[in-house]
Order: sequence, then structure tokens, then C-alpha cells
Amino acid sequence: MSRPLVNMNEANITVYRMSPGCDLGDVEVGKTYIGRVQGFANFGTFVQLNDRVKGLVHKSNVRTQHKERDSILVRVLNIRTNGNIDLEEVTIPVYTVEMVEKKSTAVRLAELGGKVGKTVRIEGEIAQIKQTSGPTIFTIVDESGTENAAAFVEAGVRAYPEAECGDMVRIVGEVMMRQNQLQIEVESLTILAGKDAEAVRERIEKALDLRSEPPDIPLLIESPVLEKLKPEMRKVAKIIRRAVFTSQPIVLRHHADADGICAGVAIEQAVIALMRESGADFDADYFLFKRAPSKAPFYEIEDIIRDLDFATKDNVRYGQKMPLVILMDNGSTEEDLPSMKMAQVYDLSMVVIDHHHPDAVVDQYLVGHVNPYHVGGDFGITAGMLGTEVARLVNPAVEPVIRHLPAVAGVGDRSEAPERARYLALVQDTYTEENCRDIALALDYQQFWLRFNDGREIIKDVLNLAGDTERHRKLVAHLVEGANLAIQDQMSACMPHVRHQTLQNGAELFLIDVEIHAHKFTFPPPGKTSGEVHDRLCQQHAGSPVVTIGFGPDFAVLRSRGVMMNIPQMVRELREEIPGGGISGGGHLVVGSIKFVEGMREEVLNGLIAKISRVKTGMPA
Ligand code: MN
Repeated sequence: MSRPLVNMNEANITVYRMSPGCDLGDVEVGKTYIGRVQGFANFGTFVQLNDRVKGLVHKSNVRTQHKERDSILVRVLNIRTNGNIDLEEVTIPVYTVEMVEKKSTAVRLAELGGKVGKTVRIEGEIAQIKQTSGPTIFTIVDESGTENAAAFVEAGVRAYPEAECGDMVRIVGEVMMRQNQLQIEVESLTILAGKDAEAVRERIEKALDLRSEPPDIPLLIESPVLEKLKPEMRKVAKIIRRAVFTSQPIVLRHHADADGICAGVAIEQAVIALMRESGADFDADYFLFKRAPSKAPFYEIEDIIRDLDFATKDNVRYGQKMPLVILMDNGSTEEDLPSMKMAQVYDLSMVVIDHHHPDAVVDQYLVGHVNPYHVGGDFGITAGMLGTEVARLVNPAVEPVIRHLPAVAGVGDRSEAPERARYLALVQDTYTEENCRDIALALDYQQFWLRFNDGREIIKDVLNLAGDTERHRKLVAHLVEGANLAIQDQMSACMPHVRHQTLQNGAELFLIDVEIHAHKFTFPPPGKTSGEVHDRLCQQHAGSPVVTIGFGPDFAVLRSRGVMMNIPQMVRELREEIPGGGISGGGHLVVGSIKFVEGMREEVLNGLIAKISRVKTGMPA
């Protein structure tokens, strides 16, 4: 043998192991690799450097005896122009192994569209792992976007079981189109550790932070209060954008009335468009975004438990992250606390966009809270107005579609703030105040029959977001007709039973038992029935302060005009003063509800009326 023997003193010799993504281009002449014996021919031994690269050790260069699949050290002598690799076997007793990664530099996910058919290397965080009946789908997030990577070992078998959600990984694979979606077919997936992982995490973190920053745009209307809320709106918009960019699911809970629906739908439009834009799956808007109306004007235990039920199942079944919870037109008051505490057990992030009078105690559970009371405003700036402004910050592209929602919300919630008129003026060419009132009523009526469903698509027709204005007009007209007939029916049943008294502060008080003098389990429900009664009485007593109490066996709904009430505070006081009353409730300052135990109704209602009769009255100028 003329070749020099390996120098036994070179203990620190490096041999290379080709990672599965490597190809011929990554092989270097002169370097020593760990290979595997693939087979034998009479002129030599075939050796695989990985699944895609193999070479030949000519029989003159074989040093030891082998079986198939034996490990073997080989040095590259030559790479021929036709791609054949000439190897020689080497024997080195002590050596260090270094992995050879594919040479290509990491490609950002947003650039994959231009790389179909090519093998690329990407680096990012695993945001979701879904086992299909075929491959395992890893959803990868980097600083530029989101894409899926499919890894296959055997049908229905989890590939790379050691890889977990939140791991930083390096993936090599071919970019493919599957059902109009970009996808990477994984050839190798390496979980990054230590400094490598840190570096990638830091890079992604920095870029994500920048990318999540909302655009710098003016408000839709002039409003000193909204102007002051802008920093908090930007903060919440950034949290929502970040959730979208990191494939974190979003659960949006909103009060099931026209204002709450407008608020929720505005954010829904912004979020779904942003998901599509950033490369999420075509059906991501269904499994990564859930909008759910809440019957109560607060986050009920029933709601949080259902949300946690879904979130924990999705987490286990589909490897989804735990969701960001957005509460709209509710979430500001101490009635939300029991649910917030429950959410905290699971470390859920929550943000609130609300115009109910806030109790500061909720803020320890929230990562963001937009509320006009925080900056000297009040409930006249409704959730639908706030939601639409935040939605524009989440995704300004949806503005043309949602810019009429604040007007509908303002009319629906009977806002008397100057902002109401400005939002109406903004869209007056397309929607009159009458149109907005009809849409709001149609929303209320439709939501009543939808019950706990979100009605995602049909609601778009009511709000004219689906682009079919003709269908929108017809649908709203029918819903309004149905709602008005039902309201008339209800009013003719209950108006004759209204009891009246004038309180010592001059307020006209009206009482209606909606349990026995109104139709039950139909539209309008007790709260809306009391509101309609109140509206009629206000007209009949123009110029006077008016309070209407609609009550049932264990609840009362309050509506008022020109009486400076603080319903949440009254409820707190009554709870102290009437032991055994089982009292709870709240709502807005002058519009709200109270619950109690049936056997204490007389005491509670009398106590309530006594408090109302001591409140200052004053009609707005
Ligand atoms: Mn509202």
C-alpha cells in the first residue's frame, strides 16, 4: 500500500456526518465522513453518506471487512463531473464528529412562494403539531410568516416525536404546493438547543415585535376621548397582531347585543384577513379564531368553562397553543372576576375592550384594557366604536368593510356621545340613521334566535360585509319586520299592566312584571321588553325623569332617563343591607340588572325603589 497510514497521534481528527437534508453540493473532497455500507459489487463497496448521497470505495481502497449497513469511515478522493464520488476507507480509532448541515442559508417563510420545487432550509418556532392520518404537520412561525411542514414516517404515525410545540427547529425540505397551499416536505428536522435556539428565538422575537407594531393611522373621527385611548388601543392591537403572527388561537367573547356584535365582528374581519395575509391555512380562521356571544353582559362561569373545554381539547388533539381571550362589550366589572381567576389557572392572556363602568380589580388579570372611563369618557363611546378603531389598528386593510359598524353600534346602544353623530356622518352617503337602527334591530332579533351561535356568515349579510347589498337589504327588511311584529305583540300584552308612581325626587317610576304580563321564551326577551316599555313611557312623559323596572320572580331590569343612578353601587349596597337577598348584578351606571332570590323579591324591589327615590334627577339640556 502506497497510501500513508493514519497517524495514530491525531486523536483530534474530525469526521463529518451528513445530515439528511444534505446533497452532493455539500460533499467536500479531502474530508472524512461517516457512512453506511449499502452493498457490494465485484469492483468495490457502495457507501451511503446519507439517504441521497452515495459513493464507491474501489476494492483497492477497502481496508476492513464489512457487512451491509455497517458504519464505515470514508475519505472523499474525488467527485467526478457525472456526480459519482470516489471514496477510500480510513480507520481512525479516536475522532470527533461534526454534523454537516445543508449549505443553503435559511430562507424566510414569506419567501417560500418563490421556491416551489426547491429544497430549502428554514428556522423557526413550532407553533402547532397536528397528526393527520398521513403525515405529521408542523406549523412553523418565523419573523416573516407562518407555513406548514409535513413530515412522514408511516401513515398516521407521529414524526419526530421528540419535537414539541414551542421548540426552535431547523427544517430542510422541498417546497411544494398542496391544495393551493405552500408546504415544506420535511427531509430533516433538527431541534435547536442552547445558543443556536437562543439566536433564532431572539431574531424571531425582535422581528415579530416590530412586525406586530400597529400602523400609525389617525382615528376615523375626531374624538378627544378616543385620542386619549389610542396608546391602550395600540397596545391591544399589537397583542392581537402578535397572536395572529404566532398562530396563537383567539377566543373572542362579546355581549350578544348589536353593540357587542359590531365590536366582535370588526375584530373578526381584521383578524381573519390578517391570518390569510400571513400565510395561515385556508381553514385557520375556523380553528384559530372563535367568536362567541355571551348572554350575560359579563364573562360568565359557563362561558369560561366552555372556552377552557375547547382550548384544552384543541391543545391535546391538535397541539394548539392556549388561546388569547378578547372580551368585548363586557369584561370590565367585578362580576367577571370568578371567570378571570379560572382563566388565570391556565395562564390565559386576556384583553378587554369595553365601555361598562370599570372596577379596577379586574386589571390584575388583564394584559390590556381599553375603556373610555379610564380617560374621562363614558359608556357613550360604545364597544362597537372602540372595536372598530382597534380592528383598523390590527389590520387597516379592512377599514372600508367595517367603517359603518360604529354607527350601527352607537345607534343600537343608544349612545348620546358626540361620537355617535360623527360616526353616522362618516357613512351618511351609504347608511342613514334609520338604516343603522334597522340593522341594529335586525342583529338583536337574529342573535336571539342564534342563541349561543356566532352566525359568522349570516351576520355578514345583516351587516352588509359579504358584498351582496341586495341580499343584505332583503334580509334586514325581513328581520326588522319580524322583530317589530314581535315587539308590538309584546307591548300590547304588557303595556296595560304597567304600574306607575311618582317618587319624592320627582322621577316617574314604572313597574312591569315581565314574568306574568309578557310572552316568555320569545323575542323580545325581558331586558329588551323592559327597554321597549321604557322608550314608550319616555315619549309619554317627555321632559320628566323616568325609571322603568321590568321584573321577574328573581330578577329586575332597570332603564332610566334623567336620573343620576349608579346601578353597580346600588347593587353593592343592597347586598349589604338585605342579608339573605342573594343579590348580584350590575351593568352600566343608569342601565342594568339585578338578581336576587325569589322569596326576597318584595324586600329587594322596595329597597331598590327607596334608593332610586333618593337619587338626584336632572334632564339633559
Ligand atoms: Mn354596549
